[in-house]
Amino acid sequence: MRLRILGCSGGIGGANRTTCFLLDDSVLIDAGTGLSALSYKQLQLIDHVFLTHAHLDHIACLPMLLDTVVSSRTMPITVHATTETLDVLKTHIFNWRVWPDFTTIPSAEAPVLQFATMELGETRAVPGGKVTALPAKHTVPAVGYLLESKRGALAFSGDSTDCAAFWDAVNTGPKLDYLILETAFSNREEKIARASRHFSPASMLHAIHGFKQDAEILVTHLKPADARLTMREILRDGRHRSFSRLKQGQVLEF
Ligand SMILES: [Zn+2]
Ligand SMILES: [Zn+2]
Repeated sequence: MRLRILGCSGGIGGANRTTCFLLDDSVLIDAGTGLSALSYKQLQLIDHVFLTHAHLDHIACLPMLLDTVVSSRTMPITVHATTETLDVLKTHIFNWRVWPDFTTIPSAEAPVLQFATMELGETRAVPGGKVTALPAKHTVPAVGYLLESKRGALAFSGDSTDCAAFWDAVNTGPKLDYLILETAFSNREEKIARASRHFSPASMLHAIHGFKQDAEILVTHLKPADARLTMREILRDGRHRSFSRLKQGQVLEF
């Protein structure tokens, strides 16, 4: 499988785009502003969207994706997420105020959007592999994802601070080629990181001791204000392992 990084920033501005990964051609992991990098033709191919949680930087482009492709599709786009995340979408986004309820458009019988509740630990088949929801610890209910092909595997933390259940799941799971791990804030923003349940370099480097695999570790969700500083702190204090910054446009094969 090929995971194309459409967006992996903790903010916008210039080339920065927020979390959205394209798995092969038809599956999205989150639907942040990175989604706007796809052409109309590529947008038409999206059949599945797996959401880590309902924060805006991870769902911003989902409403507009539906509106853009509604007239050209015969099958619905399936949005997979936990009950809690789907409830937020139904109540606060697709409520006819912020955006129309696309589960009834163009008709209730043949809508462009359908929701599929996904419980923690549940696995869904997708073309070429499977997707499993992993535990995460954030300010709102959130999950990470394990992506498995026939050849390899990749784990994504989503937005999360240290979560023992996440490490248990990845340590006892398949051999990983990649771990995409968030670190949103620099050490000087440690207080904000803790309050918003994100990692800082210090807390991430403490937590990484729980990771017992040998996968390549790619750091994501750096806030633009301190992105370089955050990465410097990780490389300076995390010499015991090898870290690199996840890049927009990067393609990971596994
Ligand atoms: Zn979040
Ligand atoms: Zn986020």
